[in-house]
Amino acid sequence: MGLLDGRKGLIFGVANERSIAWHIAQSLVAEGAICGFSHLPGEKMERRVRQTIERGGIKDPWLFPCDVSRDEDIAAVFEAAKRDFDTLSFVVHSVAFADKEYLKIGRFTDTPRHVFTQALDISAYTLIAMAQHARPLMTAGGSILALSYYGAEKVVPGYNVMGVAKAALEASARYLAAELGRYNIRVNTLSAGPCRTLSAMAVGGIDEMFEWVEKKSPLQRNINTEEVGKSAVYLISDLSSGVTGENLYVDAGYNTMGV
Ligand code: NAD
Repeated sequence: MGLLDGRKGLIFGVANERSIAWHIAQSLVAEGAICGFSHLPGEKMERRVRQTIERGGIKDPWLFPCDVSRDEDIAAVFEAAKRDFDTLSFVVHSVAFADKEYLKIGRFTDTPRHVFTQALDISAYTLIAMAQHARPLMTAGGSILALSYYGAEKVVPGYNVMGVAKAALEASARYLAAELGRYNIRVNTLSAGPCRTLSAMAVGGIDEMFEWVEKKSPLQRNINTEEVGKSAVYLISDLSSGVTGENLYVDAGYNTMGV
């Protein structure tokens, strides 16, 4: 008996085998969940995502292209999910983007308007758009989970405009939680410590972040993406049935330290 037997949901953000979304998906599937995957449009991307998922043991996965900066793409994924899954129990938002030119230490003040708008649109607004479409499909309640980072609340040099986007994402999750609670839909964020993924490599000073976390966190090490996956099971399943509007740190305790 799995914690998520028969539960169906959509995962946004698998790019390759390192992606946090992929590790979350594997943990959910191990508990009996059925996952549909959305990926950036393009044949090459589809092939890479399909290979990642199939190599991970999920045969013939449900895949749908979606550029989350396009309303019509988001609407199309949820229409297809309604057609093929009928209802949904969960959505995982694991997408983010900012122009890496402005993710360099000392370049926050230079952020142009279009870079700011794009980062907040793709990394934060899209959670609201997904929740809009998910709500009517979550007929028996549901859980929506988004990935955040400590740079939302404290300055992490190099994280820059992405920190502002994560602050907007966390606030959006709380507002969504307040409005969707009446439908028994929970909305939470999971604030992960640094993990070596494609997106993380775009952040200036990332190597120092890994070293710093190892030195300063209570567990004296970095986390791994499997640990994010395990905590996602908690937030998606009924283990967290009384939890909404929360931000759960999976960061080896780093956020608790004052030095
Ligand atoms: P990743 O590069 O594997 O995943 C990011 C995903 O965003 C990719 O699948 C990419 O295709 C997708 N994406 C970007 N723009 C998109 C668009 N316009 N339309 C559709 N998809 C788009 O990296 P990751 O580290 O797994 O990132 C997943 C989430 O975790 C992000 O929200 C990231 O900010 C967050 N996070 C990462 C870390 C870390 O250290 N890696 C730490 C905390 C939070």
